[in-house]
Amino acid sequence: MATATAFDVTAIRADFPILGTEVHGTPLVYLDNAATTQKPRAVLQALQEYYASSNANVHRGVHYLSGKATDLFEDARARIGRFIGAADPREVIFTRNATEGINLVAQAWGRANVGAGDEVLISAMEHHSNIVPWQMLCEEKGATLRVIPMFDSGELDMDAYARLLSPRTRIVAVSALSNALGTVNPVEQITRAAHEAGAIVLVDGAQAAYHMPVDVGAIGCDFFVLTGHKLYGPTGIGVLYGRAAILDAMPPWQGGGDMISSVTFERSTWNVLPYKFEAGTPHIAGAVGLGAAVDYIGAIGMDRIQAHERELLAYGTEALRQVPGLTLIGTAPRKASILSFVMDGIHPHDLGTIVDREGVAIRTGHHCAQPVMDRLGIPATARASLAMYNTREEIDALVAALHKARKVFG
Ligand SMILES: *Cc1c(COP(=O)(O)O)cnc(C)c1O
Repeated sequence: MATATAFDVTAIRADFPILGTEVHGTPLVYLDNAATTQKPRAVLQALQEYYASSNANVHRGVHYLSGKATDLFEDARARIGRFIGAADPREVIFTRNATEGINLVAQAWGRANVGAGDEVLISAMEHHSNIVPWQMLCEEKGATLRVIPMFDSGELDMDAYARLLSPRTRIVAVSALSNALGTVNPVEQITRAAHEAGAIVLVDGAQAAYHMPVDVGAIGCDFFVLTGHKLYGPTGIGVLYGRAAILDAMPPWQGGGDMISSVTFERSTWNVLPYKFEAGTPHIAGAVGLGAAVDYIGAIGMDRIQAHERELLAYGTEALRQVPGLTLIGTAPRKASILSFVMDGIHPHDLGTIVDREGVAIRTGHHCAQPVMDRLGIPATARASLAMYNTREEIDALVAALHKARKVFG
């Protein structure tokens, strides 16, 4: 397994069995990491071992296996909490994904704290998962959804943000890193300004969590969500971090087993954090697998991963700029390794199909950020998103495939 002594991309690639796949008779070049990342053997083994030797329900049984499963589950919570800088594992709530974390906050916190005339502030580059739950809340409560505008480069207009904040603003919900554009947003500054205005802050960290070191304490945010499958972990598991004081004051969200301390037909009382927000049997294996994923990342070092991806981003940006008729979409100075682009005369979907024939997996479409496309006046983009195991040679393969597409379309 790769270790912290050097960033050895060949050794890292050997940890990911799927990267040896061939598609259409050529080696797979997987550049769709913003949609989901591949899984290292350490994660696959953790899932297998959990079911093979530790499977039981958690928090319920006095028997040996239930104790073992509970220990593994709670240990994973603690390690994932440390990975994002959470002060206390009680502040780490397991969800299905980032989307569920945002819905939990919009519904449990939002319904209790947002009323008619209040405002919810999001940004122009949010994923649909950080738009629609707030729209639903605002509609239900007679509140207003406001949007921080962005410049053509894909940077947020921070002066406009300052003007939009008001005593009516209850919560600011922004992405730390845009999946459609790659922009890294100044979430510390955004949080400070929101707090000064009396609002709380939710940071959507679905992309940031696997591209850069995250410290929720340093950001100062009240909520932070991530999704396991983008963090080299399993699907079906995610995390909502919340400050204990806010979570304690919130009503529960879903009702059921595990989230109660007592139940009678007259009334029920709620369990302590984090269980108050974890109704029903959780994705135990998923949590264990995500724990293995953050251990794997930790052994390599997130700062090394970030440095490798920065180098690839610079190389890829330069290489794509040389392709005739190609325009990069999203050129913010603070950017992570996501390359969105359009090509004159070729619809992104056709482009995606042609490069797939060359073994190159990229995403085409609106990337669950339709308002970004509307704002920039384009129907869709092609997107190559890079992760720790990608190489310069893979970027060369993408560029060669794009030249081929150029020939097909003249
Ligand atoms: C992927 C993504 C989400 C949603 O993640 P799910 O796993 O589908 O819940 C939210 N925000 C951003 C920025 C994303 O990239």
